[in-house]
Amino acid sequence: MDMGIKGKRALVCAASKGLGLGCAEALAAAGVELVINARGSEALEAAAERIRAAHGVKVTTLAADVTSEAGRMALLAAAGEVDILVTNAGGPPPGLWLDWSRDDFIKAIDANMLTPIALMQALLPGMIARGWGRVVNITSQSVKAPIAQLGLSNAARTGLTGFVAGTARQVAPHGVCINNMLPGIHATDRAIALDQGVVAAQGITMAQAQAQRAATIPARRYGTAAEFGAMCAFLCSQHAGFIVGQNILLDGGATNATL
Ligand code: NAP
Repeated sequence: MDMGIKGKRALVCAASKGLGLGCAEALAAAGVELVINARGSEALEAAAERIRAAHGVKVTTLAADVTSEAGRMALLAAAGEVDILVTNAGGPPPGLWLDWSRDDFIKAIDANMLTPIALMQALLPGMIARGWGRVVNITSQSVKAPIAQLGLSNAARTGLTGFVAGTARQVAPHGVCINNMLPGIHATDRAIALDQGVVAAQGITMAQAQAQRAATIPARRYGTAAEFGAMCAFLCSQHAGFIVGQNILLDGGATNATL
């Protein structure tokens, strides 16, 4: 399918690996010029090189912590005018509800709520002025159904979801669509880190931890970054102009809900 976005320019945050990289690759395959970001430069440069070689699009890199004010400023300066924004950052650590201090909450809210909000505040005015834009925020399945050990994520991402619900309706008249993508378990480094926690807690092997988790998913497997990226590219496409303020769950059926 022609996505109709060849030549557009996208900023994809936290995109040297995993779901962010999946989104960057799918946008590049649609002919979109990229600015991609991560903290570490090695994997970032390698990803950029692979994307340039595979898709022939221009890829600019900026190594910075997107959750810091200085990192965001540098990233926005490198990005300039963008038509498409994909927000993403690492997820908060697991724990239990009594474990977390005010500082832990502030850190999680900063990374997974206030950072995407700051990026939208910076870039939405330009999209509105040009009469076209797409924003996809990578959140989590935990927004629809809480994950007990990810209370920091449950809290911060739900706050972002509330902001998007109101803001998406305010910018839609200007041709700008904001939506959220809610990953269930996907085969990335983040999933490995979560499974390592299960290995340590239950004294089982990694293969057993993965099989145990896959058994709870109706699709009986983990999602892939490529599948995730394909949905992102569609939400950023010309075909998705009537999709506004939605929370798209990609979880292999893991969330047992009718709606
Ligand atoms: P991942 O495989 O660990 O990749 C994370 C990417 O983000 C890397 O490129 C990393 O590079 C970059 N990054 C992390 N923190 C950053 C920061 N502060 N500033 C800039 N770049 C940063 O993670 P993932 O699985 O793709 O997950 C992406 C998001 O989806 C996370 O918020 C995660 O919690 C959420 N999620 C994932 C799953 C899943 O199953 N994978 C499920 C639900 C939610 P550097 O380390 O070099 O910065």
